[in-house]
Amino acid sequence: MKGCVNIGVACEKSGKHEKGKYVSGITNWLSALVKNKCSCVAGSIGRETENNHVRGAIPLLRIDEEVRQEAVELVKTLVGIKSVNPPGNENEIATVVKEFLVTNGIDATLVPLGKERSSVVARIRGASSGSVVLCGHLDTVNADEEKWSVPPFEPRINQGRMWGLGSADMKSGVVVILEMAKLIVQDNLTLKKDLVLALTADEEDGYQGAASVTESGLIDDAKFLIIAEPTAGKVYCGQKGELWLEVVFSGKAAHGSMPEQGINTILPASEFCLALAEAAGSFPETPGRGQTSLNIGQIDGGWQVNIVPDTTRVRIDSRVVSDEEKRMVVDLVERLGQEAIANTGAGFKAKTIAYRPPIVSDTSSPYVQSFLKAVAGNHSQAEMEIAPYSTDGVSIIPKLAIPMVVYGPGDIAQAHQPDEFLELSSLYGALDVFTRFFNELVIK
Ligand SMILES: [Zn+2]
Repeated sequence: MKGCVNIGVACEKSGKHEKGKYVSGITNWLSALVKNKCSCVAGSIGRETENNHVRGAIPLLRIDEEVRQEAVELVKTLVGIKSVNPPGNENEIATVVKEFLVTNGIDATLVPLGKERSSVVARIRGASSGSVVLCGHLDTVNADEEKWSVPPFEPRINQGRMWGLGSADMKSGVVVILEMAKLIVQDNLTLKKDLVLALTADEEDGYQGAASVTESGLIDDAKFLIIAEPTAGKVYCGQKGELWLEVVFSGKAAHGSMPEQGINTILPASEFCLALAEAAGSFPETPGRGQTSLNIGQIDGGWQVNIVPDTTRVRIDSRVVSDEEKRMVVDLVERLGQEAIANTGAGFKAKTIAYRPPIVSDTSSPYVQSFLKAVAGNHSQAEMEIAPYSTDGVSIIPKLAIPMVVYGPGDIAQAHQPDEFLELSSLYGALDVFTRFFNELVIK
């Protein structure tokens, strides 16, 4: 990037740029931010755009090339900060994010989550009580670096895509949230409600960051929750429930040379897995919610090749569309387990490790309607769906019982695997959607 240090930035009082200073190559967003400050008065600053720097014009948020470029640089910066979970260690990224907010005149605070871990909560006061909460997570899953063809923590841009761990899930979503907050304050806009940012630790492992933010009371006044997870252009009005089950087959150990003297548990466990996988395909399609899914995620049987395996453990991850289908999955697992051990002498036990019920928002909520309208833009309204995956909503909605939508840049199909990437066009698109939504909330 090359240009006036005050590109798009002018003092609201004088309306002037400080001329003559040029920078080439913004490599550090902090220095870029410092350079972006109007230096001619120690007052408020405003972007010099055609719509909001003219006295008397309706003040509205507007995304221009400068904002897009800053957003790209900021995603690169955040991808470059390792925050893989486990173990998390989100303190570094949380501190950078907090600094960004504070530098831009926004009240922000760290909410600790054990050692080396923090979430960030920030608030911009609006005209009346209640708040809209923008939520995103700061952690990523781990990367199997050997399988990546590009370094996961050194983001690269090529042909409109950025490669890097967390570029899609979801450091780009966090950046959209940060940019919205920055622009609202920078352009001196007042929203009808407070805007609260909840940028969390530990989404990828247990949603503990969102849980501690919720328990802190800092978002108790929330009326609406937007989670900026990658949705590939869709908007989700909730999410499927998450049901994790563990089943254990128990048998009898024996010398590997005399298998007839033992009870091998790998055999009924295998039969069980095959029958379960086949049955899983027959869950019905529920309009607006999709289909309950089922993944056999872990199997662990036997411990030495020359011993008959007396224990085999299978772990199952099912994403359910309703409580009723949760019960159907539990019953199905029990029935197929019993069928698999019939006449084998083996035992079978199933237990639920975790259950987070589905979240389905009331789509008649004016906030949800307004957000759907912002996503649809000039097209017909987006169809109602719920996210197939889980989000921080599981730690927030049970306490607050508010409507929630999930919408953000990137595609979940590129997440949790080598060579994760972000289409930059989806980042720009999300900036536009959030802008349209907040423009409806601006006091005009
Ligand atoms: Zn995510």
